[in-house]
Amino acid sequence: MTQGNMPLRAKVATQVSRTAAALSRAAGRGDGSVIGGWIGLKIDPDLLEHLAAGRAIALVSGTNGKTTTTRLTAAALGVLGPVATNSFGANMPTGHTSALAKAGDTPYAVLEVDEHYLPQVIEETRPRVIALLNLSRDQLDRAKEVAMMAQLWRTTLAKHPEVAIVGNADDPMIVWAAGNSPTVSWFSAGQRWQDDSWVCPECGSTIERQDGQWWCTGCPLRRPAPQWVVEDDGVLDPSGAWHLIRLQLPGRVNLGNAATALAVAAAFGIRPLQAVPTLSSVASVAGRYAQVDRDGRNIRLLLAKNPASWLEAFDMADNAPTLLSINARDPDGLDTSWLFDVDFAPLRGRQVLITGDRAYDLAVRLDVNDVPFRHVQTFGEAIASVPPGRLEVIANYTAFQDIRAELDRVN
Ligand SMILES: [Zn+2]
Repeated sequence: MTQGNMPLRAKVATQVSRTAAALSRAAGRGDGSVIGGWIGLKIDPDLLEHLAAGRAIALVSGTNGKTTTTRLTAAALGVLGPVATNSFGANMPTGHTSALAKAGDTPYAVLEVDEHYLPQVIEETRPRVIALLNLSRDQLDRAKEVAMMAQLWRTTLAKHPEVAIVGNADDPMIVWAAGNSPTVSWFSAGQRWQDDSWVCPECGSTIERQDGQWWCTGCPLRRPAPQWVVEDDGVLDPSGAWHLIRLQLPGRVNLGNAATALAVAAAFGIRPLQAVPTLSSVASVAGRYAQVDRDGRNIRLLLAKNPASWLEAFDMADNAPTLLSINARDPDGLDTSWLFDVDFAPLRGRQVLITGDRAYDLAVRLDVNDVPFRHVQTFGEAIASVPPGRLEVIANYTAFQDIRAELDRVN
């Protein structure tokens, strides 16, 4: 259904949603997508369903990498025509509603979806493809949710055999969650963080790993053969052809995100040769990976919000002076004891600076890990403390936003 054919209430709700978002933006209150979607859904609770109808949609969900993978996938699908996407990371139904209302009639949409909302968003948007990236603990106080989330997804996906899945073969939780889906395209990008998948979600036995393979010791659950594989600085496609991937985004983890985007694009009939060149257009994602030059320092921002993404950030960061910043405000989770789940040893030998509300928790952790560091009060002091050249900044959610604000909300 095009927006012109929607019921009157949905048309009005769409218009009000756009206007509210625009007013909120004009008032300097972020990008307005949450308030815009909220108002639209108040007027027409079925608005997301109306706005999704007639579009070919891909959903992207998982604990880490959603925002970046969504951006890469939207770039790849752009080969076919205009693509609606929630590129500001507003990943709940209000954000989806706002993104589709704002985009107008586009034949395609790529939506990042919060893990908890995936069942609802599947019902309302009837996606063609869903990319499932990984499941791990997000904050310590939510650790037990990993297995529950996998179960919720498994139950939901079993009811939707019409949806093609693009799934991570290296994450046992994802393989199990997609286990009842008839159409799955598996990708392999490695799994650096394994502490949330030692126990089989099917039978409770131990999962063993060796040489990139994994298998349950008590039931048939094991790593499926992947069709899309990160190899060196490129991706092998299902035909066995290897494609060099030139990204502006750092790290092997982003090559994995690129492989996922190529697999989703293939499910829409786009060949890797068409999709690969589009991926290099993505430079930064809501400030993540942004590089800013200040006083002779090239500052790069990396967001790390949970143990798995800290390990990934160490992998992405150059061997250069590194500022770590930790807060423990509401969006970050109040408990910082997860710091002890992360091995900070990769930082040994680098000049390490620490800051943020919970810098002292970080100090204790680094001390135990034998990583020398210096505490700085401000971002300016950090810049002054390092020689000209690259400064890597790794920060959790609100600390990241604080530093972005100091750098004039870089994009
Ligand atoms: Zn098992």
